[in-house]
Amino acid sequence: MIVFFATKNPHKIREVESIKPHWIELEKLPDSIPDAPEYGDTFLENALSKALFYSKQLKAPVIADDSGLVIESLKGFPGIFSSRFMEGESYKRKMEKILKMLEGEKNRSAKFICNAVFSDVERGFVISSKGEVTGNIAEGIRGSEGFGYDPIFIPRGFSETFGELKEEIKNSISHRKKAFEKLFSMLRGLI
Ligand code: IMP
Repeated sequence: MIVFFATKNPHKIREVESIKPHWIELEKLPDSIPDAPEYGDTFLENALSKALFYSKQLKAPVIADDSGLVIESLKGFPGIFSSRFMEGESYKRKMEKILKMLEGEKNRSAKFICNAVFSDVERGFVISSKGEVTGNIAEGIRGSEGFGYDPIFIPRGFSETFGELKEEIKNSISHRKKAFEKLFSMLRGLI
């Protein structure tokens, strides 16, 4: 089954390529397609609106996700604003800012959340799933693997950040792995 993946983030594409079952073939979005609007209040609303928007535009099955870093002592910040926070600045600057906001804070609990959605407007159905990975925010920026906030996130059970851990390890425990694994297994029962 050919499915478009509604993202322009090459890291997400690599991660989902390593998670997907063999009966799914991922297709990139055409360059000409406009960006989906993103004004939901939750990860689920944003993932749903992306998947529905592209599935309608392309008249084809689409998967989309919306994800982000949720920091307990910052009341969930940056959350759905993970990519829009300090827009235009590098992730190094964004991570430095977050570390500054957490200076002196003992509670460094955080999690990555991913809501994944499959939408097929032609067949007339939509399904969604959610994955989380819990952990802590490191005291500094460590490692260069992955993307986004990976270098400041230490998953529970490890002492390294996602930026230091090998790609295969992140891809076996991540929020995206959990969400898409569930999504693909639900989809298998439906088609
Ligand atoms: P999205 O593309 O709208 O889902 O934005 C997700 C944003 O959340 C990314 O740009 C990152 O800032 C952050 N994020 C989500 N997942 C990850 C991850 O696996 N590692 C690091 N940052 C992530």
